[in-house]
Amino acid sequence: MNITDDIISIKGVGEKTATCFHKLNIFNIRDLIFHIPRSFTLYEGPVIPTPSDNGETKAVRVYFKMNSFSSVKKGHLNISHVTAVCNGKNIYLSIFNMPYLKKQLKTDREYVIRGTLEVGKQGAFSMLQPAIFTYEQYEEIAGTLLPQYPLVKGLTNAAVTKAVRQVIDAIDIPDDGLIGDTDFASALRSIHFPQDMDSFIGARKRIVFHEFVSFLLQMRSDNNTGNIAFNEMMVETAQTTRLLEALPYKLTGAQQKCWADILKDMTSGKCMNRMIQGDVGSGKTIIAFLALILNASNAHQGCLMAPTEVLAKQHFENLCELNDRFGIGLKPVLLLGSMSAKAKNESYKEIENGEHDVIIGTHAVFQKKVIYKDLTLVITDEQHRFGVKQRESIIEKGDCVHLMVMSATPIPRSLAMIVYGDTSISVINEMPVNRIPIKNAVVGRGYRRKAYEFINDEIKKGNQAYVICPQVEEGEDSDLENVVDYAAKLEQELGPAINIAFLHGKMSTDMKNRIMSEFKDGNIDVLVSTTVIEVGIDVKNATVMLIENAERFGLAQLHQLRGRVGRGDKQSYCIFMTAKEDEKTNERLNVLKSTNDGFKIADEDLRLRGPGDLFGIRQSGEFGFLIGDIYNDADVLREADLYVQNIMKPENSDELARVNERLNDTCFNTVDFRSI
Ligand code: ADP
Ligand code: MG
Repeated sequence: MNITDDIISIKGVGEKTATCFHKLNIFNIRDLIFHIPRSFTLYEGPVIPTPSDNGETKAVRVYFKMNSFSSVKKGHLNISHVTAVCNGKNIYLSIFNMPYLKKQLKTDREYVIRGTLEVGKQGAFSMLQPAIFTYEQYEEIAGTLLPQYPLVKGLTNAAVTKAVRQVIDAIDIPDDGLIGDTDFASALRSIHFPQDMDSFIGARKRIVFHEFVSFLLQMRSDNNTGNIAFNEMMVETAQTTRLLEALPYKLTGAQQKCWADILKDMTSGKCMNRMIQGDVGSGKTIIAFLALILNASNAHQGCLMAPTEVLAKQHFENLCELNDRFGIGLKPVLLLGSMSAKAKNESYKEIENGEHDVIIGTHAVFQKKVIYKDLTLVITDEQHRFGVKQRESIIEKGDCVHLMVMSATPIPRSLAMIVYGDTSISVINEMPVNRIPIKNAVVGRGYRRKAYEFINDEIKKGNQAYVICPQVEEGEDSDLENVVDYAAKLEQELGPAINIAFLHGKMSTDMKNRIMSEFKDGNIDVLVSTTVIEVGIDVKNATVMLIENAERFGLAQLHQLRGRVGRGDKQSYCIFMTAKEDEKTNERLNVLKSTNDGFKIADEDLRLRGPGDLFGIRQSGEFGFLIGDIYNDADVLREADLYVQNIMKPENSDELARVNERLNDTCFNTVDFRSI
């Protein structure tokens, strides 16, 4: 068996299962072994239940009182009730659709039941739908960690586990050549089937180290845009100063400083390579516009790329409005993938002839067909960086290009210096003064009804709401709310007068665009979404954000989500709803209540997150890591940085060559960070 063999070559994987695997981007055995469990189930030793176990998952050794067994039918559901006894104390069980247990379970045998223990007001124990094992069966699995994989409909966890178990020991996994306590192959094996939590954590760290080292090596070997001279010096012009005087507001101190950085870069005679980090709502757009105006008034072309059509349109409309109102004299054009071929061709011609000096659009602006007459400035919005390949393709379009990346992710400075290497960073860490601060609440699920009433009231006032759920559809983790079912449930709760739609990353781009514009136009009252809703989207009318399973998100991410409300002149609200009401969760979430400063929040996130949050929702997925998360794994990132710095020293060139060669092994090349 070979690492590049098709998934279908695994015993037990047929056409149908293979199609499911494809949906998870698993095509061959390598893809499968890099499909990392998202959590584990531990079959812990049985306990004698106590009232303090309320709400906890417990295994309990019991006998069944079979004469208590009864079943009733409710619609499609058959519900059985049976009493189990542990140490003389009754536990009342409810079980769905398994009436046959009446015949299978024996009074004189010992069993282990495992499930969420509920303790009633009078102290009675009960369990809903526990897993039932014979005592002997349980003995066998007790103490082991069972992997829980990301799934799609039609694929069970058991099927994935079985497939992985079959190949993981049978195939030859090469070593990555990085020095460490564990070799890569052992780490990969034990990340699927760890002996205990500690060995999982160790294995995970080792793989994250591998990822970070590959990333940093790729980045640093190609970063050569540093000191490229600009053909012709740009000069400061009157247009930008005039606009700044005419604007109805004064730039904040942080915006002024950021603009000064850019002005200095662009008139320095060298290529700018700058990242603008500013919290949501800190006013990055006007800075981009100023740069575009400076560029245009030096008689060059500049383009602004947004990640989605909705955002590109928003920018275009805002720029046109400024342009007309203040007579700036720009000749902007909008370029979207969804435009008709005729319209696009028209625009291409005009761009090539130099009839436009500002081009705003989505990825369409980088298409091969777009030939610029004189491109000298490229700005991307809501990006974390320019991938090296992207940079190369841009530089092909113009000899000398100033690059500017705008991001709302406030990455702590210590990490940013590692991740961004030679990119200069400007930080906008100050909010415009006219904002009404968002009111925040951290609540348990018991508050849900009230939250719905609240949303209802806001909608009656003509406002709109967002609801964020962590997953797309039922399947991966039944403890988490999912967008599809949630939207249906909410429809019933709120009634037909309220328009509800949902949005998630598995939808087509077209569909996503349509729904976002409908929401923007006010035709949708409540948008139930995963985290795909845009960072930059500006729907001033949205005043409520309800985030379900808030405990599973990183603080920085929650903060970004919250930034979608509070953008207009109305009071806005953010409700963080958690399924876990312990002290640690509360401490973390309360950080969001105490401050609105994204950088502070990111720092706290670093401090408060620990190995316990390994299974939270990843927040820096934008960098393309499989499992690494620059926040959660900040310590590993620092280690990787030191390692890479060391092997890049001239005296270690042999070592560098050896590591590069190992990392170029097809087994590891799952991610080309240069194209991200
Ligand atoms: P982001 O940084 O999230 O992209 P935007 O650029 O969309 O933020 O700005 C959010 C809103 O704040 C816009 O409506 C913009 O016009 C306004 N704005 C920007 N700078 C200022 C300022 N200095 N004072 C007042 N309002 C501002
Ligand atoms: Mg923005």
